[in-house]
Amino acid sequence: MVHERVMEKLAILSDAAKYDVSCSSGQSNRKNKDKGLGNSSGSGICHSYTEDGRCVALLKILLTNHCIFDCAYCVSRKSNDVKRAAFTVQEVVDLTIGFYRRNYIEGLFLSSGIFDNPDFTMERLVRIAKKLRLEHNFNGYIHLKAIPGASDELLKEAGMYADRLSVNVEMPTEQSLKLLAPEKNHSDVMKPMHYLKNEIAGHKEERKLNFKAPLFAPAGQSTQMVIGATKESDLEILGMADYFYQQMNMRRVYYSGYVPISYDNRLPAIGTPVPIIRENRLYQADWLIRYYGFNVNEIVGFDQPNLDLDIDPKLGWALRNLNQFPVDINTADLELIKRIPGIGFLSAKKIVAARKFKKLTATDLQKMGIAYSRAKYFLAFASPFQLQKDFTAIQIKDHILDAQKSKYQNDFSNQLSLFGT
Ligand code: SF4
Repeated sequence: MVHERVMEKLAILSDAAKYDVSCSSGQSNRKNKDKGLGNSSGSGICHSYTEDGRCVALLKILLTNHCIFDCAYCVSRKSNDVKRAAFTVQEVVDLTIGFYRRNYIEGLFLSSGIFDNPDFTMERLVRIAKKLRLEHNFNGYIHLKAIPGASDELLKEAGMYADRLSVNVEMPTEQSLKLLAPEKNHSDVMKPMHYLKNEIAGHKEERKLNFKAPLFAPAGQSTQMVIGATKESDLEILGMADYFYQQMNMRRVYYSGYVPISYDNRLPAIGTPVPIIRENRLYQADWLIRYYGFNVNEIVGFDQPNLDLDIDPKLGWALRNLNQFPVDINTADLELIKRIPGIGFLSAKKIVAARKFKKLTATDLQKMGIAYSRAKYFLAFASPFQLQKDFTAIQIKDHILDAQKSKYQNDFSNQLSLFGT
């Protein structure tokens, strides 16, 4: 009977947790010690993909979906007529350990609605992490939600046991937050973010001097923005993300396409498609900002505040800046090579390393596995150079999109022929 009740809670609280996407793993190196349980090494744990593309499993649940707030975009808001449940601290600990021992999961992602008040909720989240670490010697990955409004003391304790902490900003602008969650404001979110940023930096410094100093949220902090519930442009969204990266040392910003869940005239109607492609384009743009040296204003601007949904943002930038091309990959800087559509971060590094030994040709690039059919329009090899010079940005875009379409058609026909149809 008790088991059934816990399973029922698990069904309710794992379903409610699925809207929070801020849980891709961080890079935490918590080694197994004292014959403990688990080992969060390398890129850590996540329910979907780590930052290096590894797929790992994570127990992703809410402690409770009771909430004193009524944020219109949230399935757990107090006015929503849904089944409610709350785990006890011990239930979450037992579930985590039980699933871990059965090899179902490699870590825990624990968020929560806010029952009673932020400290009351945060204290329980901390207690779970503390029990796992201290009583069960659990060294697997733990990601805890930092509840806005919780005391600094509790946040500090949370950081001692969790690998990652996240405070979700949810709405990209204060205006939207006021519209959909009038009881909240952005400063409630910024305050814990600031606190965590300083604590993380302080502990890192301390560990440089003394490697025995305690870890504090070694996988850093992350946040999530809901996309498509309100009217913000990609310029505003990426501007906010950039602020988090620059000012809060955020490890990751997650973009969660809004899923219409109930009727509310402030929100898109039920049945409005979830903006998946936009979400993908935002992740691509985010990647360009973090790893490719792009500024937000090079990707979106006041003249074009939204990302092109047809093409990825790097190609979009290249087409708007044809004067920077063609690029001679045998002499160009690494930074410029990284900006060539079809050439990724690692391939650019390979090119720079390989050209020390020989003059690279188109064939060499193809062997390296770059997306040559895309890159060729931007490279200074004889024939593609001619191609690039002869084409306008619109023509290049059309060629690339046509090639992409026929590639998918061919792949699809090949799959059909495999099945003998
Ligand atoms: S405070 Fe969090 S859980 Fe509660 S309604 Fe708002 S978003 Fe949902």
